[in-house]
Amino acid sequence: MGAITLQKVTKTFSNVTVIPGVDLEIADGEFVVFVGPSGCGKSTLLRLIAGLEDVTSGSILIDGKDATGMPPAKRGLAMVFQSYALYPHMSVYKNIAFPLKMAGIDEAAIKQKVEAAAATLNLTNYLDRRPGQLSGGQRQRVAIGRAIVREPSAFLFDEPLSNLDAALRVNMRLEISELHQSLETTMIYVTHDQVEAMTMADKIVVLHDGYVEQVGSPLELYRNPANVFVAGFIGSPKMNLIEGAAAGRYGAATIGVRPEHIALSKESGEWAGVVGVAEHLGSDTFLHIQAEGIGPVTARVSGEFGVRHGDRVWLTPPADRIHRFDREGKAIQ
Ligand code: ADP
Ligand code: MG
Repeated sequence: MGAITLQKVTKTFSNVTVIPGVDLEIADGEFVVFVGPSGCGKSTLLRLIAGLEDVTSGSILIDGKDATGMPPAKRGLAMVFQSYALYPHMSVYKNIAFPLKMAGIDEAAIKQKVEAAAATLNLTNYLDRRPGQLSGGQRQRVAIGRAIVREPSAFLFDEPLSNLDAALRVNMRLEISELHQSLETTMIYVTHDQVEAMTMADKIVVLHDGYVEQVGSPLELYRNPANVFVAGFIGSPKMNLIEGAAAGRYGAATIGVRPEHIALSKESGEWAGVVGVAEHLGSDTFLHIQAEGIGPVTARVSGEFGVRHGDRVWLTPPADRIHRFDREGKAIQ
């Protein structure tokens, strides 16, 4: 079991409040991603759950029991970091076996658990190697293996893929998602990368300056961002956020429209504009357009769209795809 509840959790370092107050429910078996820009408090929140930091106030419940003052080892959680923290002089086998050996488990049981974890992670043929003889992705799998053998009630990942190159990150993302599907264990995953959040999470928690801006499924956040911050953070390319008179026409302080929702034409439309940079990706074209009376707007068109720098185009934002926000940045329903 791995249900985790945070009740009015705060954290202050000396006199700087990093987490002003978080309430959160994580269901057993859920894949939850904490996402937000660097410095917003993601690692701190994860470390509070792990027990590596003490809360300043509030409580943390694990499976309904108060775990607020519990030492990390008693919480039944396993943490995987960005830096793999493997022992360089030990084999893969010994690295994975390490927590079990520390717990005084007998060799036969250790062997069985290590081999099972290695099979799950495609490490069976590497058990005799040392970390230095492995690729970055394999090292991260060893670190995950060391967490798996502990059979934790939840896995806590802190930016585990940040040290990997882009292609490997995509692979590992899939592997961790598959691992979650086969283990069905609660996972809390911290990242600054909204694509990781969107592709992996059952539930995303968007953090900003220690505040929870919104909690929801990837598509809930994409379709109904609660405020300007979430609107601009979730989605790539970013949602166009337009202020001033153009927004006023829609009865809002700010309007938002996603690049992929803008209809583009070479003949006519609602907003006239001039193409600046056109990014041709093959599958899509991203056009950076200076729209008259609106400002810079990014539009995304599927496939190829034959325009060049300086060409005149027309943009039409579909009425039902326009997000409206008030002066405080809150979504107008
Ligand atoms: P993130 O993981 O989202 O990048 P962190 O949780 O690491 O953010 O940090 C959030 C804020 O808390 C930052 O401003 C950071 O400088 C501050 N902070 C983190 N740990 C400490 C600490 N031990 N002492 C003082 N400030 C800290
Ligand atoms: Mg961090």
